[in-house]
Amino acid sequence: MEEVPCCHCGGFFVPSPKHKNQIYCMKPDCRRAKKAAWKREKMRTVPDFKLGQQLSNKKWAKANPDYWKEYRRENPEKTERNRQLQIVRNRRRSKKPNGASVSDHLVIAKVDASKPNKFNPIGQYYLVPMIAKVDALKVRIFEISTGCQ
Ligand SMILES: [Zn+2]
Repeated sequence: MEEVPCCHCGGFFVPSPKHKNQIYCMKPDCRRAKKAAWKREKMRTVPDFKLGQQLSNKKWAKANPDYWKEYRRENPEKTERNRQLQIVRNRRRSKKPNGASVSDHLVIAKVDASKPNKFNPIGQYYLVPMIAKVDALKVRIFEISTGCQ
């Protein structure tokens, strides 16, 4: 059986013979990511599932008011990552009236149309946010045939 890259960590693994379409490896973080992706898919496709989740999240947060405060204190790295991802989400949301988002506009402005585009989107890259005070993220990009969402 051939090794495939994990959708979450990018590490290569051999899918279990019982689950030939496996796209997440067996590391605990990746199994959590798989579950989260399943949940997102459910939220998107089953209207009552989202409502139920929101209600139970609210109930839980009421019973555990200090949880997220504690979590942020104990996991500064994850808090920072989440903060950066939120910046990206916010940017995606801030659409200009003509339908183009602010970030689309900035990306387009940096492309030099006179040179052929030799960008090969596979390898190691830094994702550099277009505001100076946010750190760059190092990412690995693989070609995937199994179709990660
Ligand atoms: Zn993994």
